Amino acid sequence: MQVLVYGAGQLAQMMYLAGCPLGIDVQAVDVSNDTVVNPVNKQPLDITLAHAIDAADALTVEFEHVPERLLEEAARSEKLMPGIESVLVGADRVREKRLLESVGVPNCAHRIVTQLDQLDECLSSLGERLILKASRDGYDGYGQWRLTDAAKLDELKRNLSALDLETVPLVVEQMLNFDRELSVIGIRSKSGEIKVYPLAENLHHQGQLHVSVAPATKVSEQLQAEAEKIFTTLAEGMEYVGVLAVELFQCGDTLLVNELAPRVHNSGHWTLTGSDTSQFENHLRAVCGLPLGDTRARGPAAMVNIIGCSSFSRDLLSIPGCHLHWYGKSVREKRKMGHINITAQTYAELGDKLQTLSSYVPVEFFPKLGNEAQRLKHI
Ligand code: ATP
Ligand code: MG
Repeated sequence: MQVLVYGAGQLAQMMYLAGCPLGIDVQAVDVSNDTVVNPVNKQPLDITLAHAIDAADALTVEFEHVPERLLEEAARSEKLMPGIESVLVGADRVREKRLLESVGVPNCAHRIVTQLDQLDECLSSLGERLILKASRDGYDGYGQWRLTDAAKLDELKRNLSALDLETVPLVVEQMLNFDRELSVIGIRSKSGEIKVYPLAENLHHQGQLHVSVAPATKVSEQLQAEAEKIFTTLAEGMEYVGVLAVELFQCGDTLLVNELAPRVHNSGHWTLTGSDTSQFENHLRAVCGLPLGDTRARGPAAMVNIIGCSSFSRDLLSIPGCHLHWYGKSVREKRKMGHINITAQTYAELGDKLQTLSSYVPVEFFPKLGNEAQRLKHI
């Protein structure tokens, strides 16, 4: 079987690796120049995009910001999974909010802003602590502005004056005092079967995910059931096929949806070693029409992103249950270079292992590691 992935980064690479034992050949599209490449070494393959589309059993995406003309061409083949509407929802916060409202899934109080004057109304209706998000082309905290003091509104308006809000509106959200950030990742098959992984707890720094722990600690049966209900409502509402990631804020016993990613997700990388079937394998199974695999966690697991750094001791592999996943990219500030997965029998043991890990890596690049190790050790 053959799967063509739009986007040729680490997610396509990990789908390729998951496809090998299944006999599924994964090719990637470099969307900057419409070439078909090997997802690992990124070398062009001797095939045109049109031929690759014809030859593929399924087309899918590794990121939502695929140029629309490519998505439309993919959709015409009737092999694109998830469908074009789902991908566009993930790429556009206005569409995303409309979907959340239409299926009745709780999310953060917000306004859509197409003129800077509307910000005054946002302040009076949402309060004076706001997050402004460009509705398109934002990721990892880019394309976002914060307002924490009404007196700074005029200054903010001046900073935003160059934006074309009619074309790319802002989604303005109330800044929440959430307890923590979680994500729920699941899969829906072509026949409508749904499987959901345990909730992951996600630790961010400067808008970027640094550490995920799964299953998240202190999750009641009700909270996991609530997350599964949200997942099911969204996946069924979109007639979704494949892996869908839903980022959540937990406020007390309530879950609010932050955003959707219509693809495999960084906060699901722990499934490579922490679950019976990885998110990458399950995504391929879904789009190829195969039965879905077990999503249970084998035990507590952590995923630690390696961001903007390439020199660290590979002796970290001496930690039992520790695996390195390297993406083969040149180093740049804030760039995701790879990740480390660690599994353990208990949260306390996971904390010990994270503490050991911190002695092998330059801690300035891993600002969340030390505290998380201590927290887990005392559970
Ligand atoms: P991603 O790379 O996950 O797509 P992103 O840049 O698209 O990230 P968001 O996930 O919307 O953007 O926001 C980034 C982070 O900012 C969140 O993980 C959260 O820590 C914080 N944040 C976003 N919205 C709110 C909010 N309404 N209240 C408080 N914090 C928020
Ligand atoms: Mg996010």
